[in-house]
Amino acid sequence: MSKLTGSRKATQFTESVIREMTRLNQLYGGVNLSQGFPDFPAPAEIKDAACAAIQADVNQYAVTWGARPLREAVAREFTRRYSVPVVADEQVTVCCGSTEAMMSTMMAIIDPGDEVVIFEPFYENYGPDAILSGATPRYVTLHEPDPSTSLGAGWTFDPDELAAAFNDKTKAIIINTPNNPTGKIFSRDELETIAALCRKWDAIAISDEIYEHIIYEGEHIPIATIEGMADRTITLNGLSKTYSVTGWRVGWTISPPSLTGAIRKVHDFLTVGAAAPLQEAGAIALGLPDDYYAKLAANYRQRRDVLLDVLERHHFTVYKPAGAYYIMTDISAFGFPDDVEFARYLVKEIGVAAVPGSSFYKSPTAGRTKLRFCFCKKDETLAEADRRMERLVPAGVQIH
Ligand code: PLP
Repeated sequence: MSKLTGSRKATQFTESVIREMTRLNQLYGGVNLSQGFPDFPAPAEIKDAACAAIQADVNQYAVTWGARPLREAVAREFTRRYSVPVVADEQVTVCCGSTEAMMSTMMAIIDPGDEVVIFEPFYENYGPDAILSGATPRYVTLHEPDPSTSLGAGWTFDPDELAAAFNDKTKAIIINTPNNPTGKIFSRDELETIAALCRKWDAIAISDEIYEHIIYEGEHIPIATIEGMADRTITLNGLSKTYSVTGWRVGWTISPPSLTGAIRKVHDFLTVGAAAPLQEAGAIALGLPDDYYAKLAANYRQRRDVLLDVLERHHFTVYKPAGAYYIMTDISAFGFPDDVEFARYLVKEIGVAAVPGSSFYKSPTAGRTKLRFCFCKKDETLAEADRRMERLVPAGVQIH
């Protein structure tokens, strides 16, 4: 057989459906409600800080594990908000986005045969992250709530199903709260349940908290704050969502000192380091006053409510999110055989891009009646999507 092929690992997953939808959207000139990036400007203070850093010639490699001002700001803010001590020199590693933070973390802690528990539906990167790091994923369902009564918090797991997924081989569990795609915020009780299993099986919690500040109901609780978890939690976060700079590619890990060395080595040989001037600007961003975060959440709440209304008027069944900036919907009303076909129709014929639900599930049949929309978009963008969706009709309804 020819050797001119991709590796076994690389053939086990497909290209990102989310990023594919953005490309299709460009092809058809659609309104992009698929990939989660804002189409409005980033805060002026942090853009100015980035320009100033470049002008001040902060243009060479930063220390591989991250420029001191940013690492110290990350440690300071986590401690200030959650009263968990974090030592920048021993625990914080700056990466090229939380995407790389997750990959470096997985490669740093996983041995072949190790199992990683992943809640499903999941942010689509976690599947390939598991394959590339050699982990065997064990999926645990977040059961969908009755959309008419629930907030995103209604998506929940069965504690027995979760317990059954843990065993001697379990190295880690991935938690994402607030959650993409469901908008769920994990409750203290749920985190206690997860924490007890981590302690019982000596497993690590990898907690992706990139939507930490985008909350509409309830509160964000980092699992590192649950008793006995600071020593076995790797918290991931980044600038992308909180400061509307997804293209900067700056994120970080906060890890127990015993794991930091492994993460830093992998990160160094994968990337050498994140963009130096943008790390300087990141330190300024983390110093923004608390009302910045309050306004961010209030602003997204208003956009959430606008898009919920648009989608409901256009015959989608919506799952109201408690956090993050996505709305999961049910598309059964449209009578399409599956979500991918409907997503293609929506972008090509209606001119609105969204993400097929199946891309958040391992099983090819799950998610077939779902579609995810994002609302991190300008008022005009949401209004244009509304206008275009006027042409959407449910199955069985005649157009006159
Ligand atoms: N984690 C989750 C849950 C996300 O939804 C996203 C982006 O959509 C990321 C990570 C990527 O973050 P970053 O831009 O920091 O790599």
